[in-house]
Amino acid sequence: MALIVQKYGGSSVGSADRIRNVARRIEARAAAGDRVVAVVSAMGDKTDELIVLARDISKSPPAREMDVLLSTGEIVSSALLSMALHELGRDTISLTGAQAGIRTDAVYGRARITGIDTERLERELAMGRVVIVAGFQGVSEDFDVTTIGRGGSDTTAVALAAALHADTCEIYTDVAGVYTADPRVCPGARPLRDINYEEMLELATTGARVMHARAVEVGAIYDVEILVASSFDAEAPGTIIRREATMEQSNKVRGIAHQDHIAKVTVRAVPDRPGIAAQLFEPLASAGVSVDTIVQNASVEDLTDMTFTVAQGDLGAAIKTVEGLLPTLGAREVVSDPDLGAVSIVGTGMATTPGYAARMFRTLFEQGINIELISTSEIRITCIVASSRVGDAVRALHEAFALDQAD
Ligand code: ASP
Ligand code: MG
Repeated sequence: MALIVQKYGGSSVGSADRIRNVARRIEARAAAGDRVVAVVSAMGDKTDELIVLARDISKSPPAREMDVLLSTGEIVSSALLSMALHELGRDTISLTGAQAGIRTDAVYGRARITGIDTERLERELAMGRVVIVAGFQGVSEDFDVTTIGRGGSDTTAVALAAALHADTCEIYTDVAGVYTADPRVCPGARPLRDINYEEMLELATTGARVMHARAVEVGAIYDVEILVASSFDAEAPGTIIRREATMEQSNKVRGIAHQDHIAKVTVRAVPDRPGIAAQLFEPLASAGVSVDTIVQNASVEDLTDMTFTVAQGDLGAAIKTVEGLLPTLGAREVVSDPDLGAVSIVGTGMATTPGYAARMFRTLFEQGINIELISTSEIRITCIVASSRVGDAVRALHEAFALDQAD
């Protein structure tokens, strides 16, 4: 009797019909003898609607009340899914995050799971019930409701799978798995059979939206194998995220991620002396600006340029902060480019095989795409390019690295 943790995303539970569809899928597994814990997201765009509603009431709603409000989206779908299973004659119970024993710190809006007390869950499972858990939420030490960050239901599911020592963790979504690139941008993209945690984490943090990066992190730490598959297409096998992906694939680029809405800021002619980076980036952090890629040029006559990227939405705050710092820094000026995107190639093989970077740069050059900035990790190369060329870059790289060919 296997223990399975499943997660159904917002679009999978987006209507009464879809909830009934999910109930039938769970019922089939339960009838086959599996014990099932199902984590659900809020229906469709419910979370966004609740945020709009809150902003209508208050320009800056208290973070604690915001979490109480947002947690209700997931509670609604958990109750409805439980009802749908009852209709099918299945013994089932819905639990909020708190009832399911999910403990977090008290950082509202992006709380971290600190532990899971599985006593109640195990009791319900032992009674033969299917347990439906409201995703994306937990409870602080003071019994206040918390939410764990947008897209957090994935993390709830993987954390529950780890705590319950589940046999599998299955994330059901509206796409057929983890794709070699975003199929909306790149028609040749196809779902991967498997991918390792490191690659998935790099893809998730550089723009692939299929899975919450923190869920992948939790999976890697507790060695939870995660299946990402479609809740609509039962035939599609989906993608397995695990420690070791297919051996023969280890020397290939596995996927391409892209991001839009990136802006670049350059502080020109900064005197090159110790402490300058701290003087620049500490105030940016205090201003709540999250900085991504940072490049410091080699200095010429003791002057250097510092360039960094931020989300487009943070550009105004970044420029304002840096302009205020120019006198203290002794820097000449700040210039910016508001309209950039990022394209990343990811694959474990890059760590040991030379030539990936050269091939990527040549491919972009052949498309006439200018590279604004380059950053790398051991298994990733990211190029910042004009936002209007991001799609071309993804398609050209997909072809250059033969990602359209089956594994
Ligand atoms: N409903 C939450 C969100 O939209 C959590 C989730 O979907 O995983 O961000
Ligand atoms: Mg959602």
